[in-house]
Amino acid sequence: MTKNFTRRARFIPRTYPALALAGALLALAPTGCAEKPQRKIADMDPYVGGRPAPMQPIRRPPPRPEPVARRPAPQPSRPASGDSAWTPARGISGRWECIVIHHSGSDTGSPQSMREWHVRGRGWDDLGYHFVIGNGVNYPDGQVFVGGRWNQQKHGAHCKTPNNYYNDHGIGICLIGDLDDHPPTPKQIATLARLADFLTQKCRIPRSKIHTHGGVTHKTACPGKHFALSTVLRKMSSYASTGEDYEPDVEVALDPEFVSGPYPATP
Ligand SMILES: [Zn+2]
Repeated sequence: MTKNFTRRARFIPRTYPALALAGALLALAPTGCAEKPQRKIADMDPYVGGRPAPMQPIRRPPPRPEPVARRPAPQPSRPASGDSAWTPARGISGRWECIVIHHSGSDTGSPQSMREWHVRGRGWDDLGYHFVIGNGVNYPDGQVFVGGRWNQQKHGAHCKTPNNYYNDHGIGICLIGDLDDHPPTPKQIATLARLADFLTQKCRIPRSKIHTHGGVTHKTACPGKHFALSTVLRKMSSYASTGEDYEPDVEVALDPEFVSGPYPATP
């Protein structure tokens, strides 16, 4: 036993240098990425919160065309409804003291054809009336056309008298139709009453100042023997007493700049 022990004891010291050399070689050997993965900041930092989103290509907005100095294109008439469509952008003037009602004398008229006649045929700067109400033939039944004069709060060209009072201070409303031949449509009456109600309130015009053309000049049958002002006033009272909210369709004339563009200036 003692001899064997001695041999073993002698052997151990001799093997130490070899083992140390093998260990050093192992330590110097390359380990490779797979055996020692790199940790990312996102995995270690609790405030980063999850992995970062993958990189996205930068999207640039398409190049904008160079601005061209020119007049804006004419805008189409804008359909609208409600009191706002009857209120010009710059508000309502304090000049209005009465309302004068007319008929066109023809069932086939339209605001555009009447304006054409007033401008080309009579040499006026625009449609003579402030408002036109359609009869359903060539302009929608009960629809209001808001003329350029109303947009500009300009005097009318519809009721000539020696002192021109009714043109200067009267709001001209024309019902399309030959009301010497037949009465206005129910929608025309409903719309006229609604419009007159709006105007009398906004302009503080008493109902006693709602006139007919012939009633003022006594020289014309306008707005025709089938037109009854009393029917309109009754309808207005009905709106006031029942709170009925009737909103006719409204078309506002083109921007005055374009309306008056190719025509002669106001005399
Ligand atoms: Zn008239």
